[in-house]
Amino acid sequence: ASYKRIADVDDKVKAFLTLDEENARNYAKQLDEALVGRTEKGLLYGLPIGIKDNIVTKGLRTTCASKLLGDFEPVHDATVMGKIRSSEAVMIGKLNMDEFAMGSSTENSGFFRTRNPWNLDHVPGGSSGGSAASVAAGEVLFSLGSDTGGSVRQPASYCGVVGLKPTYGRVSRFGLVAFASSLDQIGPVTRTVEDNAYVMQVIAGYDKMDSTSANVDVPDYLASLTGDVQGLKIAVPKEYLAEGVHEDVKSKVLEALKVLEGLGATWEEVSLPHSKYAVATYYLLSSSEASANLARFDGVRYGVRSDNGANLIEMYKESRSQGFGNEVKRRIMLGTFALSSGYYDAYYKKAQQVRTLIKKDFDDVLAKYDVIIGPTAPTTAFKIGEKTKDPLTMYANDILTIPINLAGVPAISVPCGLSNGLPVGLQIIGKHFDESTVFRVAHAFE
Ligand code: GLN
Repeated sequence: ASYKRIADVDDKVKAFLTLDEENARNYAKQLDEALVGRTEKGLLYGLPIGIKDNIVTKGLRTTCASKLLGDFEPVHDATVMGKIRSSEAVMIGKLNMDEFAMGSSTENSGFFRTRNPWNLDHVPGGSSGGSAASVAAGEVLFSLGSDTGGSVRQPASYCGVVGLKPTYGRVSRFGLVAFASSLDQIGPVTRTVEDNAYVMQVIAGYDKMDSTSANVDVPDYLASLTGDVQGLKIAVPKEYLAEGVHEDVKSKVLEALKVLEGLGATWEEVSLPHSKYAVATYYLLSSSEASANLARFDGVRYGVRSDNGANLIEMYKESRSQGFGNEVKRRIMLGTFALSSGYYDAYYKKAQQVRTLIKKDFDDVLAKYDVIIGPTAPTTAFKIGEKTKDPLTMYANDILTIPINLAGVPAISVPCGLSNGLPVGLQIIGKHFDESTVFRVAHAFE
């Protein structure tokens, strides 16, 4: 059914970069046969899943939507892939994204753009646009995305599905192609909060292969879906309903808060005063980390190598010039500049200090409240081409998701209504490692 749906709609939506049909069909058949006489089933037994193309899959092309990795076949699986396979989900294929996860619209893919299934003239969001669009279009039941500054939550919001960014360290990053290592997290994109809890149950947990993985027990997420939010204390940052956030988005969020109030929760306005520095801080830090992480793509170790260079240095230059798209080059240049001697203290170090202040804002509020609630994005999905000319307007769009990555806390986006026929997302932010409360609130609201 999954491949039939893909055949029917993916020429319009364009969510998939690579399909793995033969292996998926064989595996599904094996699962059916092995079921005979078996009572124990994997938690995701037989369910079709799509994977963002920056999560490595053994023997299956993993491109990060970059021409540079157009023919790259990993020799091992990411830790999350091993877990997904043991849960007996069926992997359908690899999903389109902004190249190396840099972008907010999936227009930076080195191959083609993905479209929003709700309205094909609009973007699906990004960078996990393929992950969100494939679920919204009914091509797969769920998918994995990655979120460095909003890339799971913002496309989930734009496509009317549920997307979680777990606490930094909760899900292993081993085998996730690194963009900004201090911010990157893998997260599930699903149709419901319950489905999301199922996928998290499978992918969360300590991994010795990731030195930033946290050795913290994984609770029973499904048990947190009680529907009970009686006495829950919600903080609503005034910066999240300020100028720049569309009136319809504000009113949907206020309606959602009314629903939660009706269920016995209370809310108060608070302030996250350093949020206004989050976009600048994030783009400095993430680009700095990216400039170091992407140094490994030299035309030798992975992917495409140019034949043009007369010597080694020229070969590096030619391979990178041909392989990387404009946005990736922009970030590498910005990051290299910010890290260079004479500028390091003024930019990188300063941004690290501001990051600490942003994190402290969240810690202070979350010491007094159970969750923070606001919109996921300032507007609904914008039109294809609307923001491609000016990178700064594209960056500004991430203002409500980026602070959460800088603070390292978990946050989910759940659909909370429509504006002009396009979905609005409600963002629920929790304390470190408290995905359970985030799920409980999201599920009660849903
Ligand atoms: N839009 C942000 C960026 O371009 C976030 C991307 C992400 O979370 N991977 O960097």
